[in-house]
Amino acid sequence: MLCRDQVEAWIRAFAGAIADQKEYLTQLDTAIGDADHGTNLDRGFRKVLERLDDWRQGGIGKLLQEVGMTLIATVGGASGPLYGTFFVRAAAAAGSGESLIDAEAAEMFSQGVDGVAQRGRAELGDKTMVDVLVPARDAWMAATKEGTSLAEAVERAVGVAAEARDATGPMLARRGRASYLGERSRGHIDPGAASAHLMLQSLMLTIER
Ligand code: ADP
Ligand code: MG
Ligand code: MG
Repeated sequence: MLCRDQVEAWIRAFAGAIADQKEYLTQLDTAIGDADHGTNLDRGFRKVLERLDDWRQGGIGKLLQEVGMTLIATVGGASGPLYGTFFVRAAAAAGSGESLIDAEAAEMFSQGVDGVAQRGRAELGDKTMVDVLVPARDAWMAATKEGTSLAEAVERAVGVAAEARDATGPMLARRGRASYLGERSRGHIDPGAASAHLMLQSLMLTIER
């Protein structure tokens, strides 16, 4: 079971992780992009943190919807609409209730991932956040079908996400700014893959708390 307060705590934890890792994310984006991924996301999540208390009514869906809209409005760059779409699609899957059973939580995450993949039109192997989100989602879904606890399912997803993040290093970028570099995009971890891992790790730490 995932309750609304845990979802809010997840958002706060992700915002905190972005703030903590801002320099690292921007450094990754310096190598193969325009050196703004950390500052882009931090700008958006600061705004989310300012407004979180206004979204107490309306259940999990309302909270996630507002997070998504705020990111779309404030992040800028490719990652704003992509993470924004993640949360807006997750909101639609979550609905207006105050809690989700384990299978619904997995579905909420999965719908968000599908939203990112559709919006960015990125395939697996294109060296984007999709390369972390899709295998992590698949691991979470598989664990849930096996009947593991939510904590165990998310922990497995985080393990897969960390490996998937590192596996973007040797890939050739085919989407986003890094694709302009062609072969020179190889040898660097994708910034969005790193932030996507942080999103899952934040959820794990929240659930285990
Ligand atoms: P920008 O590239 O506009 O400066 P950011 O630096 O904030 O935006 O985000 C870059 C990240 O966005 C990349 O590392 C990649 O993971 C992700 N990204 C870019 N384009 C796409 C896409 N079409 N589909 C999925 N993810 C993408
Ligand atoms: Mg950038
Ligand atoms: Mg930019």
